[in-house]
This record gives sequence, structure tokens and C-alpha cells, in this order.
Amino acid sequence: VPQGRVYNFSAGPSAMPLEVLEEVQREMVNYKGCGMSVMEMSHRSKEFMAIAAEAEKNLRDIFGVPSDYKVLMMQGGATLQFSSIPLNMLGSKTKADYLVTGQWGEKAHKECNKYGTGQLACNTKGTKFTTIPQKSEWKLDPEAAYVHYCANETVNGVEFSYTPDVDTVPLVADMSSNFCSKPIEVSKHAFIYAGIQKNLGPAGMSVGFLRPDFADGSKELKICPTYCSFKTTGDNGSMYNTPACFTMYVMGEYLKYTKKLGGLAYWAEQSDKKSGLLYGAIDGSNGFYNCPVEKTARSRMNVPFTINGGDEALEKKFLDEAKKHKLYTLAGHRSVGGCRASLYNGLPLEGAVLVPVLIVAGISLVLL
Ligand code: PLP
Repeated sequence: VPQGRVYNFSAGPSAMPLEVLEEVQREMVNYKGCGMSVMEMSHRSKEFMAIAAEAEKNLRDIFGVPSDYKVLMMQGGATLQFSSIPLNMLGSKTKADYLVTGQWGEKAHKECNKYGTGQLACNTKGTKFTTIPQKSEWKLDPEAAYVHYCANETVNGVEFSYTPDVDTVPLVADMSSNFCSKPIEVSKHAFIYAGIQKNLGPAGMSVGFLRPDFADGSKELKICPTYCSFKTTGDNGSMYNTPACFTMYVMGEYLKYTKKLGGLAYWAEQSDKKSGLLYGAIDGSNGFYNCPVEKTARSRMNVPFTINGGDEALEKKFLDEAKKHKLYTLAGHRSVGGCRASLYNGLPLEGAVLVPVLIVAGISLVLL
């Protein structure tokens, strides 16, 4: 570990690539010779407008966003986005479908019921959110305004490895926790949104890719606050009001770094390696360590696991030992307990390798 740093397995906000932090540090007090920090700049200044324009261009290039889609860079996190979706997308329809495969999808679904009817196209709560049912088990309504899914459930460690096929109904994705970890099929979606604090920058803003038929305001409810309006954001180049300037700048640096490394294919390869090592160690432990998620639905980003059937004393020992080796924030979400390793882009492969090592060491200790 570089001096003074630890390997940070936090589920978000989470580890940032050191190179990005160092670049931000270099530019902190005097951005490119203009005598001030980006933090101090007017968002209408020439310098900041260039930062925002470059960030948008890099988002388009890296994610392959079709040219007629709007790129929205909005203040607030994914919660504000899933709260805004029914307000912007229900239109004259009163119902929308939700594929609920974890706690975030569940929260998004609840929000829809404030303005219309959020229908459960599937709900895996009965399996404790450890599965993704086949399409034949989804109850899709062809009259729904949209179908919402959460591409990666951060708390439960459940990830779609494919874009769900929902026929002609507009598809909406919460990609907060696997954004920028693999190539995505933007054109199969009407709206993709992601809070950026996992894989693309600090907390404080979200990125959205919006299909033109939802950018013209035709499906916006009258009660939609201007602040939440996709049309207003799109028409004003994400500058209707003061954006999260500094966060946007750091995201821009992260995007430049991503481009330099080879784009999403690079992060995808890293994620496959990191998660493969960890699942390999868990599955090789004869059930002493256990990941409850069905193999085909396992997340490459968040790996929840229990030790010896959820033995809290052993889990505490594991977390304490991990900390001694500079492996931080491996505790599970407060609602599910156990352990959870989040393997976002900012966590280097060298760090991810150490958890399987600790797992094997833990097994040896018990066997001896
Ligand atoms: N959706 C997912 C998948 C998340 O992981 C999170 C936060 O961790 C959210 C939504 C909520 O995001 P925020 O806290 O930025 O509102």
C-alpha cells in the first residue's frame, strides 16, 4: 500500500484511483495557472465551462452514448434520480413496472407509488434478494410507462450480467454501483442513471443518459419540481442552477484516466479478475465462508459473505485481522450483517488479492 493509505473496501463513497487523487492534488490551489481552485470558480467561467464540456464529451465517448441522447449531470445522488423518474416519465400513464432484486430497487419502487402505481414485475425479497428470476417469471405490463431495474444491488451483491429484455416498454436502469465497470448498451435504455460516488468520483452528483422522447418534457408531470426536471436539465446543459462543480471536475479527471487506461474494457477486466479471485476463495472453503447469492446473479462489485454460518464472533475476528493488514471497511451492510467486500475501480488488484489470502489463512487457522 502506498504510504499512509489503506485498501478500502467501502461500498460507497469508495476508493478512488490514487493517480486521480494525485492529479486533483496537483491542481488544487491553482488550476492550470488561473490562480484559483476549481472549487472557487464561477460555473459560468470559461475554465469551468471547458471542464464541463470535456466531461460530457468523455462520457459520450467512453460509454458510447448515441448522439441524440441527452447527458444529464445533476446534483444529488441516485435517490434523487429514482424519486424524479416517475415525475418525468409517467406521462399520461399511471403505472410503471419495477424488477425488484434488492434493497435499492425496492426503494425506487416505493417512490413511484407517490405519483402512480409501481407494479412489481418481480420481487425476490422471498429469497432474501439472492436471485434474478428468468424473464418468463416476470409479470410485464405492456401498458407500463417504463420498466425499472437496478443493474447492481449494492447491499445484496446481485448484478444483472445482461440488459433485461422488456420488449417495447422503455427500460430504465439504476447503474449507480456498476457504472464505469464494463461496457453497457445505452441504446437499449430510455434512461440510465448513476450516482457517481462508487466508480467515478466523489459523492454529490449523478450522471444520466436520456433518450430524446423523454427529454422534451412531454411526459413530465405538472407537479415535477423544476430542480428535478430532466427537460430543464437537458435544455440547460446541466447548468440550470449551480452544478456540483468540484465533484464534476473530479469526475472529469477520472474519465480522462479511464480513457488513458483503455476505457471500460480495462475496468471490466480488472473487475472480473478481482471478483473471480474472491469468489474462488469463498467457494473453495467448503462452506466455511459462504456467499448467499446464486452464482449467475453474483455481483462483480459487491461480494457479501458470511463466516461459519454467520458466526458473529468469527466475523468480528476476521474484520479485526483484516484491519491489521490495512484491509478496511469489510463489514456487511447494517441491514444484512456478515462481511462485504466492495471491489470498485479504485481498489487495486493487489488489494483485492489480499482478501482471498486472508480467507485461506482463516480456514487454516480453524483447521489447525
Ligand atoms: N442505488 C444504488 C444501487 C446504490 O448503491 C445507492 C447508494 O449506495 C443508491 C441507489 C442511492 O444513492 P445515493 O445515496 O447517492 O442517493
